[in-house]
Amino acid sequence: MRAVVFPAPETVVVENVPDPACKPDEVVVQVATSGLCGTDLHIYRNEYMSEFPIIPGHEFGGVVVEVGREVTDLPLGQRVAVDPNLYCGRCYFCRNQQNNHCLNWEGVGITRPGAFAEYVTVPAQACYPLPEQLSDAQAAFVEPLSCVVHALNRLRIWPGDEVLIFGAGPMGLVLVQALQHSGASKVVVVEKQPERLALASELGATAAVMAGANQTESLRELAPYGFAVVVDATGVPQVVEQAFDYLKPRGQYLQFGVTPKHATVKLKPYDIFLHDWTIIGSFALCYTFQPAIEWLAQGVIDVTPLISHTLPLNEFPAAIQSFADGKTLKVHFQPSRL
Ligand SMILES: [Zn+2]
Ligand SMILES: [Zn+2]
Repeated sequence: MRAVVFPAPETVVVENVPDPACKPDEVVVQVATSGLCGTDLHIYRNEYMSEFPIIPGHEFGGVVVEVGREVTDLPLGQRVAVDPNLYCGRCYFCRNQQNNHCLNWEGVGITRPGAFAEYVTVPAQACYPLPEQLSDAQAAFVEPLSCVVHALNRLRIWPGDEVLIFGAGPMGLVLVQALQHSGASKVVVVEKQPERLALASELGATAAVMAGANQTESLRELAPYGFAVVVDATGVPQVVEQAFDYLKPRGQYLQFGVTPKHATVKLKPYDIFLHDWTIIGSFALCYTFQPAIEWLAQGVIDVTPLISHTLPLNEFPAAIQSFADGKTLKVHFQPSRL
C-alpha cells in the first residue's frame, strides 16, 4: 500500500510499504479521509513523543475491510471513526477514568502506524460506527472535536462567562463554536491572519480581534475586567506568556494548543495566588468520541468551512510545508486517490 512515512526528523516520503495485518482483536480500516494536524508537524520536527520511522495520521475515518477472528461486532463494510488513543483498561489511571493518562498508552499515528496510508490496523474497540449522515470529511473531524469536548469537560464554564481564544486555526474555529454552546456570554478571538478572523466571525465569534498593536486596547474595551476564560489554541509560547494579561480574577486559563515539548514561559506564581487563577491542561481526549459524533450529526458544529484542501497522499510532502507556513487551514487526504 501507499503510505506517508517520516523515516527521520524533518524527513518525509510517500512510498510503498507492506499492507498491515490484523491481530485477533483488531480490524483493518481502509482510510477514506485523514486530517493533517499540528501534532503531525510536532512529530515531523521531533518535538513530540513519537519515535522514527513512523507513519503519521490520527484524525481519520474509513471502512472496515478485514476483521480479526475474535471480532464479532464490526461487520465488513462498516464505516467507522477511530479513537487513536489506545488504553489498556487495567492500569491505575484507566481504573480512575483517566484513560488519556493510561500507563500503557499507545497512539495510532503517534506510537504505532497511522492513517496517512491506504490501510491502518486498529483495535476493534477503538472503532466507533458512524451515523449514515456523517460524511467522510466530518468523520475525520471526530477526533479533533473529541479533544475539544474533553477540554470543555475539563473547564467549568459558568453562565455569562466571557471567553477569549488565541488562535483561529482549525481547532480555534471549532472551539469558538463549541464555547458558543457552553453558556458563555461572549467568545472573542485573537488571530493574526485576516481571512481566519473573518471565518471566526462567520462561525459565531462575538468579536474577532487582529493580533498586534491595538490588541490590548480592543480586548480591554470588550472585557474591562478581563476574561473569565482564556484559551490558548496557538501552541506558541510567546502567545501563552501574554495570554494571562487578559485573565480576570477567578479566571480559568486553558492550555489547549500544543507548544514544543521543551518550551518554557515566564509566569509569576504570585499572580496565580493573588488572582485565584485556575490553570487547566487538556491532553487529547477521554472517551469523548460519542458526544463529538452527536454534535457533528446534529449540525451543532460546522466543520466544512475549516477544510482548505482535500488532496491525494502524494501531495503530502508539499502540503505539510504549506501547513507549517500557515498557508492552509485543515488539510484532508484521501489515501485511495492516486
Ligand atoms: Zn490531531
Ligand atoms: Zn491504562
